[in-house]
Amino acid sequence: MKSRSSRLTWALVALLVAAPAAMVLAEEAADDEEREEPINVAIRGENYCLGCDLGAQGAASACVAFGCQHALKVESAVDADGNPVEEIHGWVLHYLLNEHGAALATEEADYHGATVTLNGKVFKNERTIDVAEIHEAETDEDHDHG
Ligand SMILES: [Zn+2]
Repeated sequence: MKSRSSRLTWALVALLVAAPAAMVLAEEAADDEEREEPINVAIRGENYCLGCDLGAQGAASACVAFGCQHALKVESAVDADGNPVEEIHGWVLHYLLNEHGAALATEEADYHGATVTLNGKVFKNERTIDVAEIHEAETDEDHDHG
């Protein structure tokens, strides 16, 4: 008699613990379908100005008035284990504006047209990179601001 009621109590406790946990897992699974996990990568790419580039293609850009607005054209990327992340090769990524991202995105640090190698976290849904470190920037001498 005593043991049966104790078993019943444990079953109830297990249910109370498991039910909310299962609900949380179900919610996370639903989120995963919409948002992909960010990936840590080392990237080499071109820090090019959308205004200058699209202006040459007929867009009404105004870098002279508003300053250049750079994005990163991914040439190659490897993950933390050194494996190529080919799905993002050729992508154009926005820079998240923080210490490193802003230096690349704006004209201030003069990375205009540079080929850069950097480390950061790519948020695939937003096509955005949160730059952690800038390793190298090979700047082009003849700048062509449009
Ligand atoms: Zn520009």
